[in-house]
Amino acid sequence: MFKHTLRSFIYIICVYLFISLIPFSGFEDTTPDIQPYIEAETEPVDMRELESLYFSPGIAGASASPLTDKYIALTFDDGPHEAYTPEILDILREYGVKATFFIVGKNCEEHPELAARIIDEGHEVGNHTYSHLPNIAKADEDTIMRELLRVEDTLHELRGYRPRLFRPPGGVYNVTLDRVATQLNYTAVLWNVDTHDWRCPPSPKIATEVIKKVKPGYIVLMHDYVVGKSNTPAALRIFLPRLIELGYRFVTVSELINMSGTPEE
Ligand SMILES: [Zn+2]
Repeated sequence: MFKHTLRSFIYIICVYLFISLIPFSGFEDTTPDIQPYIEAETEPVDMRELESLYFSPGIAGASASPLTDKYIALTFDDGPHEAYTPEILDILREYGVKATFFIVGKNCEEHPELAARIIDEGHEVGNHTYSHLPNIAKADEDTIMRELLRVEDTLHELRGYRPRLFRPPGGVYNVTLDRVATQLNYTAVLWNVDTHDWRCPPSPKIATEVIKKVKPGYIVLMHDYVVGKSNTPAALRIFLPRLIELGYRFVTVSELINMSGTPEE
């Protein structure tokens, strides 16, 4: 229990550090704003409150030791998508890469065969809420809980699978979300590198962003569901061979968390 709580705390600190590195206007600018899901108008998170709750020298010390091995986690949000998810899965299989897919429950209901394929091919599936919950920053605990449990039930029926990672839509995180995540035994996960691939920039731009910014232990944000012509699959074909050449290895987010060397109970 202590170990789990500590891991959750460490992730909160990652969230805090991430948010504190950029001005708030910049943070909002990085929020995916894809259709048909309308992103929440984000209320500023009271970082001082989060800090007082989660920031302690002991925990900061534990999270401050970086991974020396070149392990990173690729993550894909908002799917499954009928065209892009299979294309991405094919490329990942070709390069022997494992990733984490933060699925939207509604899309999973439309394409259960793709969610099943993600699981069957050894990738991790995380919870991105049932409806890509709009206004999540203002949602009450019951609503958030319903959204998360509905995804869980679908995956459990499909493959007996219970996701343990949660990525809030738009990267919004606040005390209410934290309370629900803790209650349902989820670890909240954001990212270190944002590719902005949902805006469909040219594939070399997405690839360069990853190659330039990635460091050992980092989590990369991409999408397997975008509106329009996705350049994410083409970007994978550019940056995967390059990162492999540079000695990087790809693990799921849970595997990355387990490598981060948190103290045992
Ligand atoms: Zn999303």
